[in-house]
Amino acid sequence: MTIRDTDGLIDAGLLDPSDRARIDAVATRYAVALTPTMRTLIEAPDDPIARQFVPSTEELTTAPHEHPDPIGDDKFSPIKGVVHRYPDRALLKPLLLCPVYCRFCFRREHVGPDGGVLTAAELEAAYAWFAAHPEVREVILTGGDPLLLSPRRLAAIIATLSAMPHIETLRIHTRVPTTDPGRIDAALTEALVTDRSLWLVLHANHAREFSAEAKAALTRLRRAGVPLLGQSVLLRGVNDSAAALEALFRAMVASGVKPYYLHQLDAAPGTARFHVPIAEGQRLLAALRGRVTGLA
Ligand code: SF4
Repeated sequence: MTIRDTDGLIDAGLLDPSDRARIDAVATRYAVALTPTMRTLIEAPDDPIARQFVPSTEELTTAPHEHPDPIGDDKFSPIKGVVHRYPDRALLKPLLLCPVYCRFCFRREHVGPDGGVLTAAELEAAYAWFAAHPEVREVILTGGDPLLLSPRRLAAIIATLSAMPHIETLRIHTRVPTTDPGRIDAALTEALVTDRSLWLVLHANHAREFSAEAKAALTRLRRAGVPLLGQSVLLRGVNDSAAALEALFRAMVASGVKPYYLHQLDAAPGTARFHVPIAEGQRLLAALRGRVTGLA
């Protein structure tokens, strides 16, 4: 069962009981979820897997530069569930549920178990917005995690967008294949079938996330013809060394996932413990050039 509260984390030996009250305060503000797959990958409290998902009392402190909407989604949202920041592409967020809740999430003020699922009327309004914007060639399904939708609902969204002549490309951003790999079944891969160009972008930050189950789920996606890209966030204590990034990118390539983005951390509230300065990120990437295959 997915752990969703302080007691569950204490029972699993991942939190000190003396922190109960303060962690409860964190969990009241920011959603908590740790799937069984991710739980089994944790080898010690505060290791690179635990650090991503186990809440910390440090989340109660908001640094002066941190902001509840750090990348300005709100400013670029013309209608509920849609973000249009660049001319040729726009986000569609059909739900705000995730399989896990990352402690560094840039949408942490919005994602959570309440789900934020667009109603049928809101989804219709979003479709109407896309239909009225022929300059938008690419739709990025994100959230939340779109692969938590039922295959039937996901297929309906993909079919509706694919029927719009100007939509050439669909992109789906997800952590499901590594955090809840059992969800990647035949019904879900069937839901991804479209004659448009569809890309799945896997969010993963550490090589250990590529468990045997995750690799099998990624193989099922590849066999279904879904091209896979990887996106990662540079995180202090998770992947902030050339060796950790090399292992991560090699694990992606070995799993058929082409590394695509390495993000600097967005300044969401209570995330300062993950911050890696930009100059350090640039040094790390420079250290990888020539050391790993260009695919990585
Ligand atoms: S899966 Fe993505 S949207 Fe969900 S908590 Fe993690 S970073 Fe945020």
